[in-house]
Amino acid sequence: MSPVIAASNWADTDSFIGQNYARRPYFQAALAGETGRFVGIGLTSGELGYYLARPVTKDGVLLGVIAVKLSLEALQDALAAGGRERRRSRPGATGSEMLVADAHGVIFASSEPAWRFRSLAPLAADTRVELARSRAYADRRLDPLDAEPLQRLGPGARLLAFPEGGRYLAVTETLPEIGWRIAVLTPLADFGHTVRLHALLGLLLGLLAVAAGLLLLLRELYQRRVVEAAIRDPLTGLYSRMYMNETLPRLVARHNQDPAAAFGVVILDVDLFKQVNDRHGHFAGDRVLAELGALIRAQCGETDIAVRLGGEELALFHPHSRPGETLRLAERLRIVAQRHAVHWEGHDIAVTLSGGVAEHRRGETLVALLQRADQALYQAKRTGRNRIIDADPPTQGGLPPGLCAQLAQTQGAAQ
Ligand code: GH3
Ligand code: MG
Ligand code: MG
Repeated sequence: MSPVIAASNWADTDSFIGQNYARRPYFQAALAGETGRFVGIGLTSGELGYYLARPVTKDGVLLGVIAVKLSLEALQDALAAGGRERRRSRPGATGSEMLVADAHGVIFASSEPAWRFRSLAPLAADTRVELARSRAYADRRLDPLDAEPLQRLGPGARLLAFPEGGRYLAVTETLPEIGWRIAVLTPLADFGHTVRLHALLGLLLGLLAVAAGLLLLLRELYQRRVVEAAIRDPLTGLYSRMYMNETLPRLVARHNQDPAAAFGVVILDVDLFKQVNDRHGHFAGDRVLAELGALIRAQCGETDIAVRLGGEELALFHPHSRPGETLRLAERLRIVAQRHAVHWEGHDIAVTLSGGVAEHRRGETLVALLQRADQALYQAKRTGRNRIIDADPPTQGGLPPGLCAQLAQTQGAAQ
């Protein structure tokens, strides 16, 4: 069994893989006097890390182990930033973490203040002070490095080149407990390959994610277009009959259950529209229909459902709270349409609308409702066009008797 040389009491749980550092292979390698290396994803950080452990010896006696974890992701960011200064909100700008453990099983210093390491065999306070003062943990003289800084990758990380050859990554961390600044030098050849592979993988994954995102977006757009095409009439921008058949049964059912969910319908038909086509051509007729569609949509509230029934026949379903509102809306539409002129090849084309209004009666089917509105429309055509006729007897709500006709006359006179 390996000796317990260091342990993390992070949250005091066993969730930390290798809670006992001593069982980690790279740590064991350092204990055996070698350099221990390990690449893995940190359970708590979720980041790919490069773990490095070095024995600390003095006069051939193992004093302890220095372990460092470099975040390859942070490093990769730094490399990608081309050495420009990067600011990270977290201390330990290279994403590295470092700890020093002594041969007595105490991690007595760590660059990560949030880690609180339990001393398994605590050093006496004066021993600790003495160790810190003597810096006996250093296995080499801490001379300034005779290296040429090649590139600064970020706070605490540099690329170095040594005169005898070789490029190194130098990561410097300060251990706050003892005030040491420790630089760990790693030959780039050691993990440059890993970093490059990781960068490549990251790039590929990124590209895949972008491609998948684009595909999803395209599919979404396509689906939306298909749905839009099915429910909207392209010429007028109004809803299609299909949409009406899907939606209206719900409106009918709701009103059948709840008297407050009342709604009415107006069927509108362009007066003498055939003449527009005959005089100005089919394209002019199309333009008239398109502009009528826009006018109606502009007059509609959010809950209104405006439908092109076919040809120059339109229906507007109007949920409301007070009787007579559908009739008023129909009148407004008729007047707006009458006042609107469509400019076409030097001509002003004006059209009028006839309409039939019916309020939905609870228990009534959609077909029966539309039939009543259609009969009212037929009456409007028969009695001179450019008018709205209410299918409902005045006692059922709606405008006072005769007001509708009065309005129609007033509008006629105003022209
Ligand atoms: P009324 O006042 O009795 O409704 O007279 P009208 O001429 O409007 O009636 P009719 O139903 O005889 O004519 C409707 C015309 O509408 C016939 C058709 O060619 C035209 N029409 C239907 N759909 C379109 C369309 O999408 N574009 C164009 N330009 N014309 C259309
Ligand atoms: Mg017509
Ligand atoms: Mg018609």
